[in-house]
Amino acid sequence: MNNEEQTIHEFDLNIIYEYFSKTERQGPGSPEETLKALGFIDGLTEKSKIADIGCGTGGQTMVLGKNIPCEIIGVDAWHGFINQFNQNAQIKNFQDRVKGIVGNMENLPFQEEEFDLIWSEGAIYHIGFERGLNEWRRFLKQGGYIAVTENTWFTEERPAEIQEFWQKIYPEIDTIPNKVAQMQNAGYLPIASYILPETIWTDYYAWQKLRRESFLKKYKGNKIVEEFLVSQQYEAELYYKYKAYYGYMFYIGKKV
Ligand code: SAH
Repeated sequence: MNNEEQTIHEFDLNIIYEYFSKTERQGPGSPEETLKALGFIDGLTEKSKIADIGCGTGGQTMVLGKNIPCEIIGVDAWHGFINQFNQNAQIKNFQDRVKGIVGNMENLPFQEEEFDLIWSEGAIYHIGFERGLNEWRRFLKQGGYIAVTENTWFTEERPAEIQEFWQKIYPEIDTIPNKVAQMQNAGYLPIASYILPETIWTDYYAWQKLRRESFLKKYKGNKIVEEFLVSQQYEAELYYKYKAYYGYMFYIGKKV
């Protein structure tokens, strides 16, 4: 990679992170849905330990922190999000038991059987659903839980336009029974799997619309930014058109 390419690549990443910062959540999700999923997890006490993988700025982590007395470690690859995460923990006065660290979900700095619960909203696709479930299992105690959200096909068949779009972006997208089977095969008892409401996407795309407008002004004439914004807009348009065929699911499993 020559210097020019490297600069463009880094610039690209910085823009993406800027685009997704200064918002509560960096993926589709809401406090209500985080709490609902938490309702499936038994036996958490102040001695329990939780990892939130791909935590972003910690929107969902702070909801967990407010509702359970456990120690929580958030991990994200982007230091800017982790700085914001730790500021958020401080503002909420959780800093003694809720901490963010920079780390890679493909190579986590954890001990075997360290956690009672692994949480990951809108992030496991970065490593892949099956690989994440398999590799992260060793960090859970026996009887510990995993709770993740994942984009999923609702039907066995779907129009070519949406099939091709997601096949390219995330080839692991699959149907609900297949995802549940993958969870079971990875060594978990599937405790719950349910569809998140449409509003988690429509809210997510609504704030992006506003962000796009301000970015278009700020980065007027910048081709890389314009292309990025067009791709984000296209994803949103496809969602509105094809939301009967796919959406986000929560999958909750117990290590057996
Ligand atoms: N859980 C948050 C953020 C979801 S966005 C929420 O629901 O709001 C996905 C997050 O995964 C981003 O913050 C991104 O920086 C992080 N991420 C991407 N690849 C990663 C990796 N390899 N290791 C750790 N975090 C990663």
